[in-house]
Amino acid sequence: MDLFEYQAKELFALYGVPVPKDKVADTADEAREIASAFAAEGMSKVVVKAQVKTGGRGKAGGVKLADGADDAYAKARDIIGMDIKGHTVHRVLIAEATDIKAEYYLSYLLDRASRTFLAICSVEGGVEIEEVAHTNPEAIARVPIDPLAGVDHAKALEIVRAGRIPPEAEEGAALLAERLWAVFTDEDATLTEVNPVVLTPDGKVLALDGKVTLDDNAAFRQDHERFADIAAADPLEARAKEKHLNYVKLDGEVGIIGNGAGLVMSTLDVVAYAGEDLGGKKPANFLDIGGGASAEVMANGLEIVLSDPAVKSVFVNVFGGITACDAVANGIVSAVGLLGEQGKPVDRPIVVRLDGNKATEGRQILRDAALPVVEQVDTMDGAARRAAELAASGAKGA
Ligand code: GDP
Ligand code: MN
Repeated sequence: MDLFEYQAKELFALYGVPVPKDKVADTADEAREIASAFAAEGMSKVVVKAQVKTGGRGKAGGVKLADGADDAYAKARDIIGMDIKGHTVHRVLIAEATDIKAEYYLSYLLDRASRTFLAICSVEGGVEIEEVAHTNPEAIARVPIDPLAGVDHAKALEIVRAGRIPPEAEEGAALLAERLWAVFTDEDATLTEVNPVVLTPDGKVLALDGKVTLDDNAAFRQDHERFADIAAADPLEARAKEKHLNYVKLDGEVGIIGNGAGLVMSTLDVVAYAGEDLGGKKPANFLDIGGGASAEVMANGLEIVLSDPAVKSVFVNVFGGITACDAVANGIVSAVGLLGEQGKPVDRPIVVRLDGNKATEGRQILRDAALPVVEQVDTMDGAARRAAELAASGAKGA
C-alpha cells in the first residue's frame, strides 16, 4: 500500500524524522482555517500541497506557496479538483513554509535484485532521482544495509557522506537517516523516500516530502488499516472486500465468477475474445471465489457481480478440484434461491460451465433444478461465447 504524503509524514513525526508542522484539509475553507491558526502562531507563510499518490506534483502546479489565510484559501481552491497524472486531488496538505538552502535525496528500499536493503542518497535532491541517475549518475550513492545490523549513527554518517551531503548538513542528515530507518523497519515498509531532504539557512535538516510504501504481507502485525484509502476504492470492491471476495471491477458487460485466479484470468481473455465479434462485449469484473464455492460464497459473489448495472449476463466458470462440481452446482442452486428470498432475484442470465471433479454430477444437479435463469454449456469457449451473446442481445432471464 502506498501512502499519501500527509500519512507518510504522520509516520515520520511518530519516529522523530523532522518534518514541518502541517495539517490536511478536505476543502478550501478548511485550508483557510488551518492557515489562519498557523498565522496566529507566527507562521503566516504556508505551502499548499496536492495529496495524490504520484510524484511531480510541484511541476504540475500542485505545490503552491501562500501568504496568509486568504491566499491559502485561493491556492487550495485552485488545487482541489485538479488532475495530476490521472489522479484527482481531493485533499491538500497545509504545511508551514520552509526556507530552503539546499535540497538532497534519501531513501531506503528493498532491492529484490540484490536481495538486500539499500540506502540511496544524493546531494542532488528536489528533482526526480531517475533524472539525476541519467544526468549525473556519480552523484548518487547506493549503500547496502545489513538487515541485522540496521542503520546506527555510524552507518547513517556513512550513507550521508557517500551521498556527498556537505559537512554543514551532515549531522542533521545522519539523524534523519537513522530515524527514517526506524520507520522503514518498524513499519514493514518496502520504500521510504524523502525528496527533498532540505537544509535551511539556519542549519536545520528536515523532510519536506515523503513517500512510503508499506508491505501488505506484514498487515497482520501492523496497524496499517488506518491508512486505507476508502474514498478511492470502488464501492463494489469495498463491499466485496468486506465479504472476503477477491473482486476487481472492470468496464465490460459480462460478469465473471470462477474458482482460482489463473482460471479467472484466462476466462477474462476468452470472454474478451468471444465478445470481439459481438460489438466488443467485455468482462465486467474479475471475481475469484477460491476453493470453497459454498452456497453462501456463491450467493455473495453473484450478488456483488449483479450489483453492477453494467452487467448484462454472468459467466460462472468452475473447474472442480478439491471442491467438486456437485458442491458448486448445489451452491449455485441455493444462491439463486437465497437471493430471491433476500428480495434480490437474479434478473440476468447465468451461463454455467462445470468441468473437472464430479462434473457429470454437477451438471445433473443443475439440469434437475431447471432454473430459468441458468443455462449450461459444457466447454469454456462455448460458454464464453454464449455469455457474450446474451450480453450483446441484452436478453433477460425469467
Ligand atoms: P513533488 O513535486 O510531488 O515531489 O512535491 P514536493 O513536496 O517534493 O515539492 C516540490 C518542490 O516544491 C520541492 O522540491 C521544493 O523545491 C518546493 N517546496 C515544497 N515545500 C516548500 C517549502 O516549504 N518552501 C519552499 N521554498 N519550497 C517548497
Ligand atoms: Mn518530492
